[in-house]
Amino acid sequence: VRLVPQGANSGLVGASVPDGTGTVGVLSTERLTSGLAIDAAGHTAVVPAGVRLSALEDALAPHGLTFPIDLGADPTIGGMAATNTGGSRVLAYGDVRRHVLGVEVVLPDANATVLDLLTTLRKDNSRMALHQLFVGSGGSLGVITKVALDVVVRPTEQVTWWVVPSSDAVVLALLDHFERQAGSARLTAFELLSGAALAAGLSRLDATANPFAGGPLPATALLVELSGGDGTGDAFVAALEAAPDGSIADARSVPAARSWAVRHAVTEGLRARGEVVGFDVSAPRSAVLALRDDARQLVAERFPSAELCEFGHLGDGSLHLNVVLDAAGSVDVARLRAAMYALVAQHGGSFSAEHGVGPFNAAQWRATTPPAVQDLTDQLVRLFDPRGLLGHPALPYRHEGPRP
Ligand SMILES: Cc1cc2nc3c(=O)[nH]c(=O)nc-3n(C[C@H](O)[C@H](O)[C@H](O)COP(=O)(O)OP(=O)(O)OC[C@H]3O[C@@H](n4cnc5c(N)ncnc54)[C@H](O)[C@@H]3O)c2cc1C
Repeated sequence: VRLVPQGANSGLVGASVPDGTGTVGVLSTERLTSGLAIDAAGHTAVVPAGVRLSALEDALAPHGLTFPIDLGADPTIGGMAATNTGGSRVLAYGDVRRHVLGVEVVLPDANATVLDLLTTLRKDNSRMALHQLFVGSGGSLGVITKVALDVVVRPTEQVTWWVVPSSDAVVLALLDHFERQAGSARLTAFELLSGAALAAGLSRLDATANPFAGGPLPATALLVELSGGDGTGDAFVAALEAAPDGSIADARSVPAARSWAVRHAVTEGLRARGEVVGFDVSAPRSAVLALRDDARQLVAERFPSAELCEFGHLGDGSLHLNVVLDAAGSVDVARLRAAMYALVAQHGGSFSAEHGVGPFNAAQWRATTPPAVQDLTDQLVRLFDPRGLLGHPALPYRHEGPRP
């Protein structure tokens, strides 16, 4: 029986649930939670795959440590390694891959080999870094049962402001400015929300959540976070005061928990508005706003009954260009997907910035991945999983016969 590994089932590309054939089972890691070990002095943790991010954070907090991957869901650590989760703080701390020091994996071979790659060493060039093959493999090479992580000192102050740029043209300059002028603190998030995305998030919360209460929502809002120790708030004010003349139209200080509640409510808010076609894309940071402009033009001109809601981790060059369809179902989704992916390619971007590959975007992987890379990926999958027992059947590299 083919099995699909499943953690918290919060993945957004459809790879963690079996298809409808009735021939595929779920292998849940829900009960793989005992044996979490933290080395407080060494700043590492060995985490069973089924432990949730929130539980790991609860265990690290008394040691003044954090696993600095932040997102609006509560995934398992095994699922995070399998998808190489990104999140809001990649610009400061990197993605999950950057923190994975080792893994323990059960292979789908005839012996169910337990592959022990579970080191907590930060330096180890004594062999190839095979553990990294499993990061971002989407459950296609083996079942990750433990993950060794590099964790970091938890900042004592996190300060967020909502900043409205005077125009979209100054946004990248502001990003560069906050990175350089953070003083003793550090720029840990630089999120963009369009007015429509902001409205969707606010629709899930009570009226006091609105950072722009008393006026209209801006067309572009930036959620900017600095993290550090005492004095982070003052560092933020100093950076705001030193911003290039005329670049900021409005700026409002809001406690971090309240700011993030708005940001994290956007996905659910959009789902409540109607059917959503999500595009989780990235581009070189210098091109990402041009991509956003082109996407707005594309939807306005060719799919006028739909609504584009842009939001995401602009600081690392990624955006969610999510399109809410009209209730009448008049949008040709295949045309929309093709047009949006073509734009992303024109801007030198990726069709899957952080959510990975699954049935929802497998066709795009096949269409855009160079044949030599596809062949090598297929060979790797066959090497690890010769009997074709693991992973969603629609993963593009879950491939058994000769490629057509
Ligand atoms: C509201 C919301 C916000 C989100 N925001 C972000 C974000 O900002 N950034 C981001 O990157 N993602 C985001 N996501 C996507 C999602 O949370 C991540 O992909 C997450 O890390 C998946 O973890 P999971 O435990 O839910 O895995 P699942 O969804 O259960 O599985 C995901 C994939 O990993 C495989 N898998 C799971 N566990 C294992 C294992 N132990 N061994 C091998 N394979 C395994 C599955 O087969 C599947 O292919 C968001 C999701 C939601 C719902």
